[in-house]
This record gives sequence, C-alpha cells and structure tokens, in this order.
Amino acid sequence: MDFETILGENCKKRELLKNHTTFCVGGECEFFLTPVTEEEIRLCMEIIKKENMKYYILGKGSNILADDRGYDGVIISTVCLNNTIKHKKDVIEAGAGLRLEKVSVYAMEAGLSGFEFACGIPGTLGGAIVMNAGAYGGEMSQVLSEVKVLCPDGTIKWKKKCELELGYRKSNILANKEIVLAARLKLKYGDKETIKAAVIDLNNRRKEKQPLEYPSAGSTFKRPEGYFAGKLIDDAGLRGFRLGGAAVSSKHCGFVINYDNATSKDVKDLIQYVKDRVYEKFGVKLECEVRMI
Ligand SMILES: Cc1cc2nc3c(=O)[nH]c(=O)nc-3n(C[C@H](O)[C@H](O)[C@H](O)COP(=O)(O)OP(=O)(O)OC[C@H]3O[C@@H](n4cnc5c(N)ncnc54)[C@H](O)[C@@H]3O)c2cc1C
Repeated sequence: MDFETILGENCKKRELLKNHTTFCVGGECEFFLTPVTEEEIRLCMEIIKKENMKYYILGKGSNILADDRGYDGVIISTVCLNNTIKHKKDVIEAGAGLRLEKVSVYAMEAGLSGFEFACGIPGTLGGAIVMNAGAYGGEMSQVLSEVKVLCPDGTIKWKKKCELELGYRKSNILANKEIVLAARLKLKYGDKETIKAAVIDLNNRRKEKQPLEYPSAGSTFKRPEGYFAGKLIDDAGLRGFRLGGAAVSSKHCGFVINYDNATSKDVKDLIQYVKDRVYEKFGVKLECEVRMI
C-alpha cells in the first residue's frame, strides 16, 4: 500500500507550502496528503510509521511559518478531514477539518450561543483545539467537551477536555502525537438574532483593528503576562518597521505581515529583531505564538 493508492488525487508531490499557509511563505514538501476520511488518515499514518518518515499535521496553516527550504517529509493537510457537522440539543459534533467560521455559522443557525468568539479566527476546528485558540474573551477550552483523536498506536478514541491540559494557546495533543479527528462543543441555547449581531460586531472589530489585507499568521507573539505585545512593540518604535519583505504592521503592531514577497528568513529575522529590541527596552521576553515548519 502507498499514499497514492489510498488517496488518489489527494496525494501530491513537491507541493509548495506557501500555497497552504496564510503567511504565503514556504517551499516544497516531499508529499502533500489531503485525507478525507478517518480511515484514510489512519492508513497514511501506518505507512509513515512503517517507513519511519518525517511528518507534520497542517490545518489551515494560519498559525504557521514554513521555511523556504521546504520540508523533507510528509505534510498531512486536515482541511478536508471529516467535514461533517451535526447537533443534538445544545451539543455540536463537527469534523476537525471544518473552518471555525463554518462551525460558527452552523451554531448561529441552530440558535446556539458561545461560539461567536471564534467566527473570525481563520483556522480549522482541529487547529483551534490544538492551539486552544481564543479571542474577545472566549476560548476553545470554554466550549469544548470531548475530542476524538487518532492515537500513535493507530487506535481512535474520544477524550474528555480535562485530559487535554489546555492552557494559554496550548494543549498536550502534539506532545502526545495525537491527531484531532472531530470534537463535541457544548454550547448554550440563545437567540439567533442576538448571536448574529455579535458575530457581525466581532468581524467588524477585526477588520478595523487587524491588517487582514496582508498575509500573516495573526498575532505573532503570545501575550506576555501584564503587558500587550502590540503596545510594547509600538513603544519600542517598531510600528511599520520593515526587514526585507516582512514588516511590523502599522495597523496592529502585534502582527508581523508579509508586506511584499517576504522570505521565511525575512520573517524570522524580523521576529528576532522585534524580540531583541523589546527586551533591550523593557526587559520583557516575547514568545512566538507562530509555529515553524
Ligand atoms: C488574520 C489572523 C487572525 C487570527 N486571529 C486569531 C485569534 O483571534 N485567536 C487565536 O487564537 N488565533 C488567531 N489566529 C491564529 C490561528 O488562526 C489559530 O491559531 C488557529 O487555531 C490555527 O488553526 P489552523 O487550522 O490554521 O492550524 P495550523 O496553523 O495549520 O496548525 C496549528 C498547530 O496545530 C496543529 N494541528 C492543526 N490541525 C491539527 C489536527 N487536526 N490534529 C493535530 N494537530 C493539528 C499543527 O500541527 C500546528 O502545530 C489568527 C491568524 C490569522 C492569520
């Protein structure tokens, strides 16, 4: 059995990662796999383990900086994985590959509240769980009830939220080498029109404050305790600062953006430069939220 036999056209070779990350940066990978069913991803993982291949699980690539030199291994994209959604009473069950926006619209139409915070986060449900994504006072940990994972030994099981060690933008899923397949979200009954108004308001706030017109991976740095990364960067005089094709956004200093055909080196160098200047000026160590491939 090989990847092509399992996935057909959904197995590609030498695919550019810049086409699969919101930063629009990244070289070629050896294999780019897009499994649709749980069985397909399970079989692919079996091959990867048997052949001892390097692999990386990629959601929508909205929190990723991929290296221009590429990736000498297998990228498994989850964007088509388990794209089904249903609900029973106030619990939504959705596949890992679904975009948060889609889940949010589904919740709104079902008159279920609590997921509005996620409507503008441009990732998949699986990626949001791994990152414990959050915005505007909401966080995945507040709505998650159970997660279905593929374990490294090939078994599939449902895990309770308390087993995931969810913290600020982190979980133990990657350390456990698990892959999120689906999740159950416990929401609250609400008024459809009120939910819709909240979603519109949050999306407007994003458009106003964030440089959505440029490729990026969102907030580049985690929020340092007691500070705001964007304010520190601004106060360090770095608003709009450019290095090669990468820039600190002048609209929101917490975002490093791909201003003009940035290379991964431009972005990495700029991130390091920002960290150094902020540490020099305020003694605060910024930690990168974006993950590197
Ligand atoms: C404009 C913009 C705004 C943003 N705003 C926010 C925000 O408000 N709040 C916030 O928290 N984030 C925000 N982000 C960052 C990003 O959207 C989130 O972190 C999102 O949850 C990542 O999801 P993804 O599917 O893109 O995952 P990816 O970026 O592809 O992957 C993130 C991590 O999850 C792992 N992963 C992905 N899917 C799976 C899976 N099914 N199983 C196992 N591991 C998996 C990957 O290996 C990687 O380590 C923003 C990004 C952008 C570009």
